[in-house]
Amino acid sequence: MVPDPGPGEALVDIEACGVCHTDLHYREGGISDDFPFLLGHEAAGRVAAVGEGVTDVAPGDFVVLNWRAVCGECRACRKGKLQYCFATHNATQKMTLTDGTVLSPALGIGAFAERTLVAAGQCTKVPDADPAVVGLLGCGVMAGAGAAMLTGDIGRGDTVAVFGCGGVGDAAIAGAKLAGARTIIGVDLDDRKLEWARTFGATHTVNAGDQDPVEAVRELTDGFGADVCIEAVGNPAVLEQAFFARDLAGTVVQVGVPTPDMRFPDIPMIEFFGRGGALKPSWYGDCLPSRDFPLLVDLYLQGRFPLDQFVSERIGLEQVEEAFHKMERGEVLRSVVVL
Ligand SMILES: [Zn+2]
Ligand SMILES: [Zn+2]
Repeated sequence: MVPDPGPGEALVDIEACGVCHTDLHYREGGISDDFPFLLGHEAAGRVAAVGEGVTDVAPGDFVVLNWRAVCGECRACRKGKLQYCFATHNATQKMTLTDGTVLSPALGIGAFAERTLVAAGQCTKVPDADPAVVGLLGCGVMAGAGAAMLTGDIGRGDTVAVFGCGGVGDAAIAGAKLAGARTIIGVDLDDRKLEWARTFGATHTVNAGDQDPVEAVRELTDGFGADVCIEAVGNPAVLEQAFFARDLAGTVVQVGVPTPDMRFPDIPMIEFFGRGGALKPSWYGDCLPSRDFPLLVDLYLQGRFPLDQFVSERIGLEQVEEAFHKMERGEVLRSVVVL
């Protein structure tokens, strides 16, 4: 059961929702123990109703859902750094099964359903476009593109290496291209993923199983290393490669999500100090949905950002389980449920 929207909440008719690794993590208990979950969080749809006090969106609006509705009042927001908001929120009321069992919506969204209840701030109004395509901005694609453009602050002429060429890594590659990077090196162990990387804008690819990726990135950047290295796997060994594949004063961006058991790589502190530059984690690509979703939808509609290339297949709700397996086998970038 989906309650009517209360103050500050919105009810959204879901039109499409991507299948993300995070859904799989939830299902496997890797995120919390609050079973049962209502999975699905990379979604687009239309606002069906809004609760009291909601002014930013209205019934009929086409929206992409986000999982960081900023509060506007915490110390980050007060400093004008809304992208770091420390008190993002979700709907207050709970959705339930018909027997009254309370559901935990994944990332406060829960969009593998025809309707879902979210905080109104989780709805970002965007120009009308294919919901299966633009819904993907709600999570992985925004995280990757933002890691390149916002966290990494890639500029025209920069050299970039992206470690891990799945959905997030390929979005980082597309973001680097959009930002004007001169050299974009995709690194992965899987030749199929390296092929994808090229279609998103990688100028070179390196199979880390065949050659030392640090050496290979140096060779491709006149012996110096890349200005920006993006770790899109979430693995200490890969983070270490990204660290050493970077030029002096370069930036390492960590956007791959690690598991709680992983430890920071054992890097001599003198290397950290001596090389200068920056080491930056990227949460949700440091995006501000209200600013960045409509922008990327516009660029997609103008043919300047290949958002549609992330859609590997369109499926029904009953095929989500199968989509998880395809994702684990690395066969798809994104399967998208169309409702
Ligand atoms: Zn805040
Ligand atoms: Zn996701």
